[in-house]
Amino acid sequence: MFEIGYKCMECGRETLQREPLYKCSKCGGALEVMYDYERIRANFVPMQFRYMPPTHMKYYFALPLKAPHNAVTIGEGGTPLINIGGNVYVKFEGVNPTGSFKDRGSSVEISKAVEFRKKTVVCASTGNMGASISAYAARAGLRAVIFTPEFAERIKLKQMKYYGAEVKVSGKTYSEALRASVEYAKKRDAYLTGDYPYRLEGQKTVAYEIADQMNFEAPDNIVIPVGNGTLFYATYKAFNEMKALGIVDNIPKLIAVQAEGCRPIVDAMKSGRLVPAKNPETIAGAINCDDPVEGAGVLKAIKKTGGRAVAVSDDEMIAAKRELAQKGVYAEISSAAAYAGYKKLKLKGKSVIIITGIGFKDEY
Ligand SMILES: [Zn+2]
Repeated sequence: MFEIGYKCMECGRETLQREPLYKCSKCGGALEVMYDYERIRANFVPMQFRYMPPTHMKYYFALPLKAPHNAVTIGEGGTPLINIGGNVYVKFEGVNPTGSFKDRGSSVEISKAVEFRKKTVVCASTGNMGASISAYAARAGLRAVIFTPEFAERIKLKQMKYYGAEVKVSGKTYSEALRASVEYAKKRDAYLTGDYPYRLEGQKTVAYEIADQMNFEAPDNIVIPVGNGTLFYATYKAFNEMKALGIVDNIPKLIAVQAEGCRPIVDAMKSGRLVPAKNPETIAGAINCDDPVEGAGVLKAIKKTGGRAVAVSDDEMIAAKRELAQKGVYAEISSAAAYAGYKKLKLKGKSVIIITGIGFKDEY
């Protein structure tokens, strides 16, 4: 409703277009959606906003949909923010309709597919995103084709198939599956979904909710597991928007957690150069992304917020999963990684850890 075009995260080129775009036409960099913040501010009613319960579509003003009736929703968002002792909270995204945070992004992507009158959607996924896209495509009556790398958990493939998706196992790494999905989209005129600008917009609502649930006082740290980095950059973008709109005063430090066996962001923070991980291997399939799509955005968000990046071992993730479960939070292993990272860094102040998926999502 208020979006005006795209901006490249790498070279800054702006394109005033409201059609789906995936990459910068000049440098190939990742894009983000730009809004007319003046118009949002003019239409924003703070008091009314404050007394609405937090749900994904409450933050509609910051989503790129043309009209509310186009929204494809299964009641995503409105997830609990749970205090697990002292100043530490978990935002439990595992209770979304398909069991992961991906539903916020899928809701927006599939709504856009409906707006652009597409019949088939295609996606590359390590599992969670594919399951989520499959569910929202089913809901909208669209056909879904999902490309997964060989390491994708069987349980997630089963979930996609129940929703009626066509699943194609393609390649050893996420990058290989991704290439296959892009080719398929080109050849078949299918709508390409994944870690692209519209998904990023949908993922922002988790950050709006966190601020909302903390009475619009931003926490000191937000700890996020990083695969492709879309949730990470979306959180950064959302807090910047909220600051620009006068909803919050501060932007939290953003902390990226990766697996020891797949740590391109952690290495780039040390070397200053982002290169794909070689022979990535970890039990945390959902963050096993050798060449993060939003890598440049993640590095920018860490630097601009004074955040950090840390890697944790598979054993540390399992210990963290056990500890979270003792507090009543059953987390997917790649989400438990975020808690392991929080503990490893011994963070001070009010911290929110985003638990991106539920524990039933893998076998660890
Ligand atoms: Zn560019």
